[in-house]
Amino acid sequence: MADLPMLQNDFYLDPHRLSPEDTAKLDAFYEHCMKHRYFNIGYPESYDFDYSDQKRFLDFHLNNCGAWDEFCNYQLQSFPFEKEVIEYFAGLFKIPFNKCWGYVTNGGTEGNMWGIYIGREKFPEGTLFYSRESHYSVAKIAKILRLPAHAVLADEKGEMVYSDLIKQIKNSRVKHPIILANIGTTVKGAIDNIATIQQKMTEAGFNRQDYYIHCDEALSGMVLPFVDDPQPHTFADGADSLSVSGHKNIGAPMPCGIALAKKENVDSIKVEIDYIACSDKTMSGSRNGHTVLYIWEFIKKHRPDYLRARVANQLALVKYTVDKFRQAGIPAWTQKNSVTVVFPKPSEEVWQKHNMATAGGVTHFVATCHQRNTDMADAMIADVVADFKRRHIRF
Ligand SMILES: *Cc1c(COP(=O)(O)O)cnc(C)c1O
Repeated sequence: MADLPMLQNDFYLDPHRLSPEDTAKLDAFYEHCMKHRYFNIGYPESYDFDYSDQKRFLDFHLNNCGAWDEFCNYQLQSFPFEKEVIEYFAGLFKIPFNKCWGYVTNGGTEGNMWGIYIGREKFPEGTLFYSRESHYSVAKIAKILRLPAHAVLADEKGEMVYSDLIKQIKNSRVKHPIILANIGTTVKGAIDNIATIQQKMTEAGFNRQDYYIHCDEALSGMVLPFVDDPQPHTFADGADSLSVSGHKNIGAPMPCGIALAKKENVDSIKVEIDYIACSDKTMSGSRNGHTVLYIWEFIKKHRPDYLRARVANQLALVKYTVDKFRQAGIPAWTQKNSVTVVFPKPSEEVWQKHNMATAGGVTHFVATCHQRNTDMADAMIADVVADFKRRHIRF
């Protein structure tokens, strides 16, 4: 036994300390984060979380490399927790646990890529169909996977035009379409109806086993299970795979998500890895073991009735915001089970001040879970109304 000599002398003065300037930089950033902690009304990230009992795990590098249901030689993984998370989401999205496989991702995009990849492996000659209102990452995924892809028209409210879907599928003469359905579009909160899609596909002469449906549920995947009359969005409704963001309607200190697919299809992407004596069915190599614990804590500590009330709160805030805009003569709108309010784009200083996103002449407000009163909405509405008034804009 011997100490290794290289770092024994005092050549490296205080190697574990930051300089005073760098410490000050970090402190300033901490102040910034504290001050703006609950800023968000323009993007769907919720900040009503408290994972303080998880802080102690930041002393460990938790790495869930590989698949949680396979033996893994790496000790510091949170696989048993990941199993419980996937079991919970299998229930939420109505598929028997033994008929599906899924894992905790780095976010909605990774889950979309994984689902579309599985669809592509099932149908190597497949072509992707997604809507013009789909998240920008879908086109990127098609490019990465070198998957031929067609963007389908969306209507004014952001919902896929199903007749155009069928028209494009027919025109392209593909035998095995891979259809991406938006379960909550990023800008307008629109939901593509997978029941309607399947009905139109049947009418067009397709058997169900000849095409694939991936649901991008990044936005509304944690909303719909908790409303009284959800749009179709589960495996029971016809999804083949789906992806949900963990940092949006759940809320987490780091980006994360959940992806689920039918087990029979996942098995086609499995690879064996000697190096960690494990097999892998995921997109990444190393995976975040901490986010698994956050999602696990979220599902364990919140009873279903709490989660229903939390979503009801969001929908009440949406209704309040739409009503208040309309009373002021501004044609704001929303749609069924949506946490998004869409309205005409105000001046840049106003949408910037309230950290709101804009796209194609509209701006949106998202009823995030940390808004427990109407204060932030009221302040935003007042500024938008004053802005249109000042510029003499009437609708
Ligand atoms: C946010 C979002 C995504 C991307 O999810 P990330 O978790 O940011 O990767 C994909 N699709 C939709 C509809 C989204 O709203």
